[in-house]
Amino acid sequence: MPDNTDFIGHAKREEIANKLNSRTQGMAGAGVCPMCKRNDWLVGDGYIHIPITNKMMHLQIGGRAIPSVIIICKNCGFVSHHSLAVLGYPIEEITGKEAAENGQ
Ligand SMILES: [Zn+2]
Repeated sequence: MPDNTDFIGHAKREEIANKLNSRTQGMAGAGVCPMCKRNDWLVGDGYIHIPITNKMMHLQIGGRAIPSVIIICKNCGFVSHHSLAVLGYPIEEITGKEAAENGQ
């Protein structure tokens, strides 16, 4: 059973870090924390689903969401969200195969 320091696994977190780095490498200011200006991040050990809705002031649990991963500045704790779909993870991997088979 994984402990709380290895929830999605070191290999997956490293893979996500590599995907982020490859997409920002060479860009001005890439990797610099917008709050403290340091460059020392960790990939959150779990996925985040950001709920979205078409009605203001409504929060729908279990409805539409943006599956995401977060990176956290090790110095100041700033959190940055990144869409798993944009990073290239297939929808089947993000939502699970059963959801894809059901057309969700
Ligand atoms: Zn910071």
